[in-house]
Amino acid sequence: MTEVLNLINGAHVPASNWLELFEPATGKTYGRLAASGADEAQLAVSAAHDAAASWRNTSVRERSRLMHALADAIESDLDAFTIAESTDSGKPVGLARTVDIPRAVANLRWFADSVLEFGTERYEMGTRAVNDVLHPPVGVIGAISPWNLPLYLFTWKIAPALATGNTVVAKPSEVTPVTAWMLGKLATEVGFPPGVLNIIHGLGHEVGAPMVTDPRIGAVTFTGGTSTGRTIAESVAGQFKKTSLEMGGKNPTIIFEDADLPMAISTAATAAFANQGEICLCGERLMVHENLLDEVIEGICQKAAELTIGDPLEDGTQFGALVSEAHRDHVESMIARAVEEGGEIRHGGQRPEGLPDRCRDGYFLEPTVITGLDMTAATNREEIFGPVVSIMPFKTEAEAVEMANDSDYGLSASIFTGDETRAARVAPAIETGTVWVNCWLVRDFRVPFGGVKHSGLGREGGLDALRFCTEARTICTALKTSTDNVTQGAVPS
Ligand code: NAD
Repeated sequence: MTEVLNLINGAHVPASNWLELFEPATGKTYGRLAASGADEAQLAVSAAHDAAASWRNTSVRERSRLMHALADAIESDLDAFTIAESTDSGKPVGLARTVDIPRAVANLRWFADSVLEFGTERYEMGTRAVNDVLHPPVGVIGAISPWNLPLYLFTWKIAPALATGNTVVAKPSEVTPVTAWMLGKLATEVGFPPGVLNIIHGLGHEVGAPMVTDPRIGAVTFTGGTSTGRTIAESVAGQFKKTSLEMGGKNPTIIFEDADLPMAISTAATAAFANQGEICLCGERLMVHENLLDEVIEGICQKAAELTIGDPLEDGTQFGALVSEAHRDHVESMIARAVEEGGEIRHGGQRPEGLPDRCRDGYFLEPTVITGLDMTAATNREEIFGPVVSIMPFKTEAEAVEMANDSDYGLSASIFTGDETRAARVAPAIETGTVWVNCWLVRDFRVPFGGVKHSGLGREGGLDALRFCTEARTICTALKTSTDNVTQGAVPS
């Protein structure tokens, strides 16, 4: 039986309270995790606080070396991590093997490398003065991650923090904590000093909340739902704490009349159903030029029908189980509401039949295509975060942009068009953090990532993440000591 314990000050510590671990594919418990609270949060923050001075003074090369060593260790345990991620979350093992775990490794490596180039900036003012802008670490960073891409997003949060010399208290999702716990074991084995990376488990409001409000936490990086993000932002606002909030989405996919249709349909279907629709960047609203509507509906339904739904641990499975019973209940209730709102289910909407015996009680749900609802429907306004796409027609480019922007969210969008001029016009008009043109989920570490409106605050990735984890400190040194130098309002020369 898997037992997920807190990593505090370099050791996994015994727990007195527990939560159950469920395997989504079977609906059965297969282990338990520490159900921590304020006491454990305080111990972890104390450990991180005590380790902070030594870690910040550890050379950047050594920090980078340790992060690469951790990446190597995960890579050599690829199979174990892959199976653990799939078992814990219900995602197909093939996806965990080719996307989640390699990406977690890449997160560690990219920040381990990029921090070597991230140093002091110098701005000279002729003979008058010189400004050095240092980037010391914030101190202790609290990192909170969700269940949908468990290790991928956990490493996305901790890698820039550790690389820049911060110690970390990380709180993975209680729904999928196993691979973070495994990473913690390896971090200790490869030589991360005690207290540099602490990982605490349990319910968000019980252990995450006291962690983020501890005054010794200098910054909070959070990925999860918008309402949780709001709670966290409110709870630390009075402390003027740095926060980076990556939250929910209701992302539009737009197919214009001039699109490469087979490619657009195929990509829009992937955007709707990848990882059972449990990716914040999934395209839940599909807007289609009215002349293409029937063809696109048919194409998306066809793609949904072609997906191999099955045991996530089987190699050929393309579509696994939803992460929990509660989450499947939520998605099913959203489908029921779509019907009440007048929507028509064109594909799916049911629990699939014909699954292997092992998966009889798993949390499976068919990929679902809904039509007939306009932008006033709750189905098109609230995040579902499951394998459900709502398809709507539009007449003009202006209407498509208006529909895309008619949302509280603004995380990402995809547009499909064969006309470069249209792309150049439409992409910047969409109020969102990322717009993909003729593609979806193509990610470069160097570009800023984040959302606008209720989807996020701040940007992560690349330099933005390194800057978030550090405080710019300017040291302005006079180059001559004569009284000319104290002139008010000196301008750069
Ligand atoms: P969630 O908000 O329920 O939980 C996220 C994390 O926050 C968990 O670790 C949870 O334990 C913790 N938490 C909950 N309450 C807390 C509190 N009061 N204080 C501190 N921590 C608390 O989200 P989820 O259900 O795990 O994930 C799904 C959501 O995440 C979706 O809305 C999805 O769009 C979003 N998401 C966003 C991105 C992005 O990059 N924008 C990426 C992935 C997922």
